[in-house]
Amino acid sequence: MTVTTPITQDVLTIPRKVEAGERLNLVGLTRDGLREALIAAGTPEKQAKMRTGQLWQWIYQKGVRDFGEMTNLAKAYRAELAEHFTIEIPEIVSRQVSSDGTRKYLVRIAGGHEVETVYIPEESRGTLCISSQVGCTLTCSFCHTGTQRLVRNLTPGEIVGQIMLARDDLGEWPEPGRQPKDEQRLLSNIVLMGMGEPLYNFENVRDAMKIAMDGEGISLSRRRITLSTSGVVPAIARTAEEIGCLLAVSFHATTDEVRDTLVPINKKWNIEELLAALKAYPKLSNSERITFEYVMLDGVNDSDEDARRLVKLIEGIPAKINLIPFNPWPGAPYGRSSNNRIRAFADIVYKAGYASPIRTPRGEDIMAACGQLKSASERAKRARPGAEAAAS
Ligand code: SAH
Ligand code: SF4
Repeated sequence: MTVTTPITQDVLTIPRKVEAGERLNLVGLTRDGLREALIAAGTPEKQAKMRTGQLWQWIYQKGVRDFGEMTNLAKAYRAELAEHFTIEIPEIVSRQVSSDGTRKYLVRIAGGHEVETVYIPEESRGTLCISSQVGCTLTCSFCHTGTQRLVRNLTPGEIVGQIMLARDDLGEWPEPGRQPKDEQRLLSNIVLMGMGEPLYNFENVRDAMKIAMDGEGISLSRRRITLSTSGVVPAIARTAEEIGCLLAVSFHATTDEVRDTLVPINKKWNIEELLAALKAYPKLSNSERITFEYVMLDGVNDSDEDARRLVKLIEGIPAKINLIPFNPWPGAPYGRSSNNRIRAFADIVYKAGYASPIRTPRGEDIMAACGQLKSASERAKRARPGAEAAAS
């Protein structure tokens, strides 16, 4: 199949200038950014650090969106804040619940664009799969998101806002003075595996994850956050240094020839370069292994030979192989490998000493499974011939 769409980053976040008289949204600002904003709005410099901490806690620990409720701030100061600032998160347009409990939120962000966020409850944890871009500039041939034409980077507020809206929906803002342990939280883990390539929106993802990991912020351990990349090699070391979360890599093939067709970014950074960057990923240990994601496509990448090549390639890297049965979408050019094939593949990987869990598709009935995300409005556009052309 020929790939005509660019495989490089071609979107930028254009910071919106706050117009005179317009109030600035505080959600997503870094601590420094928040401090500066407060000073610019008249908070005395000497108090700014303390005020930053107080606001930060109200916004991220308590989920408060109304300055009037911030009872440890003087009434006059609350009014001043409300004059200059807002506390806003993206809006849930619709919410679908799968028969297996998975929840899919269609989320509207500034400009009327939409992304999807998925909550996956499991016995010992609850994982939120968040999006980093509207659509994706990459065009992996098995991924529904890759067929979406419209792309824009999400802002830090829109990324961390997805965590906040899920907490709203789950009713999980902790009571004052009672911080539940991570494992008791309904929302205990984050995966950056929704729409978009997180490493093509590096700074915004980083700033949002800093808030998610901040002990006075959302307060999730960095080991409960996994960033998935298709293989943006130069940004991998930066991820370790500047974010420090766990890493997953969409590997999906064991030869450059096949990976070029499945994950076209391979033409820019091939398997050898990708593996070298992964080997160098610091803090690698058995407890912090890299997850290799491997989508099982019938007759394409699922042979015994592939399995053997895979374990050879990753030799020396503390790794876990996550086998993902292909999730179909309308018009997809692939089929899912049979259960027997997947089990045989898993067995070879397992016998070579690697954990090889087979991921159970979740939320398939609401098109919430891996690789099925594509905003509803985009789907509607495709269903109406001509509308897409008109929109481009
Ligand atoms: N852009 C990032 C993160 C989002 S994709 C990345 O590619 O890593 C999350 C995972 O779902 C990736 O491993 C991706 O390859 C996989 N995926 C995409 N489409 C899929 C499909 N139709 N079935 C199963 N997995 C899919
Ligand atoms: Fe983008 Fe990831 Fe889908 Fe590839 S698999 S098109 S990188 S979202």
